[in-house]
Amino acid sequence: MAEKLKLAYFLAGGCGGCDMAIVDLSESLVDALAHLEVVFWAPTLTDLKYKDLEAMPDKAVDIGLYSGMIRLGEQEHIAKVMRRKCKVLIAYGICAALGGIPGMGNMHTKDELFRTVYFQTYSTDNPDGIAPQTKCVVDGKYELTLPEFYGYVRPLHHVVDVDYFVGGCPPHHTFVGKILEAILTGDLPPAGSWITGGKSACDVCERNPAARGQERESIKTVKRTIDGTPEEGKCLLQQGYLCLGPLTQGDCGSLCPKVDIPCRGCGGPIPGVKDFGLRAISAIAGLLEKEALVDQIPSPVKLFYRYSLPGSLLGKKAVRSENAEEDRNQPDDKA
Ligand code: SF4
Ligand code: SF4
Ligand code: SF4
Repeated sequence: MAEKLKLAYFLAGGCGGCDMAIVDLSESLVDALAHLEVVFWAPTLTDLKYKDLEAMPDKAVDIGLYSGMIRLGEQEHIAKVMRRKCKVLIAYGICAALGGIPGMGNMHTKDELFRTVYFQTYSTDNPDGIAPQTKCVVDGKYELTLPEFYGYVRPLHHVVDVDYFVGGCPPHHTFVGKILEAILTGDLPPAGSWITGGKSACDVCERNPAARGQERESIKTVKRTIDGTPEEGKCLLQQGYLCLGPLTQGDCGSLCPKVDIPCRGCGGPIPGVKDFGLRAISAIAGLLEKEALVDQIPSPVKLFYRYSLPGSLLGKKAVRSENAEEDRNQPDDKA
């Protein structure tokens, strides 16, 4: 039997859903594990410490999957260690690839986030007004440390070189099976690419007007998902629900429109799209029947950049100038 491929997995600033997508492979996971040796999976699965990964020879690991965004010094450190130890490093899931939902935190300064989380929420009980410190001494003798909380969220490729990107929040489990197969057979696209079937969510959507031989209509009104129930079978975008299916990778099988929810772009951009948010704005604006409808779009940045703000051209510039003073300790991106 051929030697197993060594796999390392790290969950950084994410929710664990990307790990669950692998577990969701069910019995296929058993087949995959016949060809994979898990040498590191932290913090969710294996009882290994960072020092175990650090002690491995460079390039000893065949495949590294890094999920979650980078907000903490600890996450940045492990990204750099994984880059050294792994022959191939994959930004797995939209948080690692573009920042994901936690990247929405880049709409606010670090001070605002700390104030809300540690002082202002109804469930917070913090009478002494203590915020997390990177160092503190307990009982006059025990020094405790916490990783640095950086001023903004970064996707993995802002910190280290990334070989492949995988979208999805999380990636759909059937697609995860295809990714593992591509890894095992070496049938991977050119380095730097997204691993995707290449079709948009619209391409695989049962509501696509083109599939019924119909023309795409302009958008006559803007609706939110709470504004009634969409007409069955009809394209959500044409009904005014701002679905981002035209520019989103459809490796999930266009799941959300199946249950009346517009696609929000978690699959990542279709090939050829550099900045998801900018392209989404331009695609939707081009379909609006009249300019006045723009005012009806709720929270445009949080709609169009929901999964991609930290990895976007615009987001990076705007957030960094806004936070420039308080974030002078933010480390530089990789050269
Ligand atoms: S991409 Fe989604 S599922 Fe994966 S870690 Fe981020 S929030 Fe969780
Ligand atoms: S815009 Fe949305 S609902 Fe319409 S075809 Fe595309 S994915 Fe389906
Ligand atoms: S339809 Fe869009 S938002 Fe929903 S799972 Fe698929 S890519 Fe993600």
